[in-house]
Formats: sequence, structure tokens, C-alpha cells
Amino acid sequence: MNKINKILALLLGCCSWLYGQNQQKILHDLRVDVVYLSSDFLQGRQTGTEYEKLAAAYVARRFEDIGLTPAGDGGTWYQFFNYNSNPHATGGQQEQTGRNVLGMIDNGAATTVVIGAHYDHIGMGGPGSLHAGPAAIHNGADDNASGVAGLIRIARHLKSSEKAKANNYLFLAFSGEELGLFGSKAFVNEPVVDLDKVNYMLNMDMIGRLNDEKSLVINGAGTSPIWKPVLEAIEVGGIKITTTDSGVGPSDHTSFYLKDIPVLHFFTGIHHQYHKPADDAYLVNFDGLLDVTSFIIALIEDLDDNGKIEFTKTKDVSEDRKAAAFKVTLGVLPDYAYSGEGMKIDGVLNDRPAQKAALEGGDILIKIGDIEVKDIYDYMEGLSKFKIGDKTKVVVKRGEETLEKQVIFE
Ligand SMILES: [Zn+2]
Repeated sequence: MNKINKILALLLGCCSWLYGQNQQKILHDLRVDVVYLSSDFLQGRQTGTEYEKLAAAYVARRFEDIGLTPAGDGGTWYQFFNYNSNPHATGGQQEQTGRNVLGMIDNGAATTVVIGAHYDHIGMGGPGSLHAGPAAIHNGADDNASGVAGLIRIARHLKSSEKAKANNYLFLAFSGEELGLFGSKAFVNEPVVDLDKVNYMLNMDMIGRLNDEKSLVINGAGTSPIWKPVLEAIEVGGIKITTTDSGVGPSDHTSFYLKDIPVLHFFTGIHHQYHKPADDAYLVNFDGLLDVTSFIIALIEDLDDNGKIEFTKTKDVSEDRKAAAFKVTLGVLPDYAYSGEGMKIDGVLNDRPAQKAALEGGDILIKIGDIEVKDIYDYMEGLSKFKIGDKTKVVVKRGEETLEKQVIFE
């Protein structure tokens, strides 16, 4: 090795060492944010409680450290909203107050990109819980401390990015999501920026469980013609994407889609701890969270020179299904990250038809009654044909075997 090569080798070594240090710093911050937000200290971050306030204050402090500008009510970090704690209750319902946390990077641009994640969760349980035992803290590490940690990481990156100057960026940590998207609805009804100037909205809800295959689900890919070509061209950390088109789904991006704004929802899939006290930080895949947020950063920087992107309405599966009005359920958690043929069951709920018919997590449902199930939508279509008390056969693949089971809907 001559002298110049030695110097080059030293410089390269130095660069990769620095790069490694940087990755370690990002991973450290992601861990701190997820561990704190999902700790027992915050008691499950239920909207309207003292613990929601503590969680909001933490996010605001992070935004302040990064150097974002407060974009809430009267120059504060917070946007307050009122909601009814139990809209179905007859009498005795109480109006309560929740708070979104808002921080801005103002690049003096004509358009603003909204990046969001909900920070509230379901407290000690209640109607949203799938937990069967006595009241317990629902820590919500994946749902959605993971998304909030991602939000903070992306804010920190974009604050100093030279490749993201053509938009302003509004970082929005929503509350009231678990109770019914209250925080995001409140924002779109009283936005702090002109909604006509919002370029697009990205929502992170449950991005902490990237699997070994690195399958990332991206919902809303039909809400702009630009999404699919841009998403398919991004190569980050070996991530493989699966997209769905609809802009309507069970999270905050829906509120923006319904105002004709292109949206995407990033999601690493459902799991056995979903809406249970066991959704804990030690189960979060932090390397995966780093990759997913790097993927989102690559998307934002790619779109920097694209101007205002076009919005398209999608055929909304959930609206079609509303018409079909499910009368029955099987009592399974579908594996949304599965992209093969059929509907893969991630878990079965206790005491429901699927469990009574001896179906198991991991089974792939390929037929329900006479209906061939090629994907989750065929499955939903299939379900809509039955009513309570009906009996039918379902066909599942379990490993190499193909099994036929009888289910009774209830
Ligand atoms: Zn969530």
C-alpha cells in the first residue's frame, strides 16, 4: 500500500466509522422514545388523562430540542379538541378535551407536507382492548410509540436535510385516535395550515414489527398516481413493500384522504400482542424501525422536486363493505403483511367460530363456503354472504396439508 492509498483507506475507515456512529445514535434515540412512551409510568396514554398530557409534553420537548417551531393554538405546541368520551352512551356522556402536538419546519415553501403518528393508546383497556383478564396497563409500544419515535426521527433528519427544501413540514402527533380518529378530525376541521396547500400526508401507525422478510405494508397507494412508481423505485435496507389502494382505513390518514389529500399509511402488520397489555418495547424491531423510517425519508427526499402531487379518489373497500354490512365474523386476526394467495390467519380469538372450528394461527384460508379466497378482500366478500347461525365449510392450508373445517357463525 502506498502512502496515498493508506490515507484513502484511513479516510474510508473513518467515514464508515462515523456512519456507524450516526446509525447507533439514531437507534439509541428510537429506543429511548419507544421505551419511555410505552413504559408503565405513562399508564397506556389514554386520551383525556394526566398520562396523555405527560406523553404530549415529552413529544413537545423532543420537537423543541430538534428546533421545530410550535404550530399549535396561540403559539403553543398543542392543539386542543373536545370529544365525547362515549358517543354511544345514553345520558351521562361527558365532553372531554384531548391535545394534538404540532411542530413545523418552515422552509418558506408554497406547499406543506404533513407527517403524522398518533401517540395515544387505550390506557388500562376498555372497549378497544383484546385483553381478557382484569384491567392492566396497555403499553402500546408498537401501537403507536413506534410511529411517534419514527416521527421524531424524521423531524430531526429533515431539519438539517439539504434534499428537502421545496416543502414546509408539519409534524403532527395525534391524540384521540384509538377513540375514533378525534385528533386528526379536529385538525382537518381547524387546520393550522391551508388544506389546499397541503401536498400530501404520511401516517405511521404500528411500524415497530418489521418481520424477517422485511415486508412493509403501505396503504393508500391509490390516492395519487405518483405513489406506486416512486415507492417501487426506493431501495432501503432490503424492505419489500405490499401496497393497498384505499385512502380509507382505521387510522388518521383517513381524515386527510376525506379532504382530497394524497395519503399513505405505513404499517408493519398485526400481531398477537395487538391491543393487549403485552404490546411491549422489548418486542419492537429497532433495526426494522430504523429501516422503515429511512424508507420514508427516501420517499420524502425523492418527492422534493415533484411540486404538488396529484390526488386521486380510490375505490374504497371499506365503503363497499359497509354496504355489504357484515353480519358475522370468524374471530381471526388476518396477517395483513402476507402477500401470497389466500388469507393468512395471524391469530384466532378465544371462544369465537374460528377457534371452535379448530383453526389456528398460521393457517391460510383458501375457501369459505363456495367462494375461493385469493386475498383478504375475497375473504371479506365471502363473509358478507352469511348470517348468524349459518354453517359452512372452510378450507385452509396448514403447512403441506389442506384441511376442511366446519364453522358455525355467531
Ligand atoms: Zn394505532
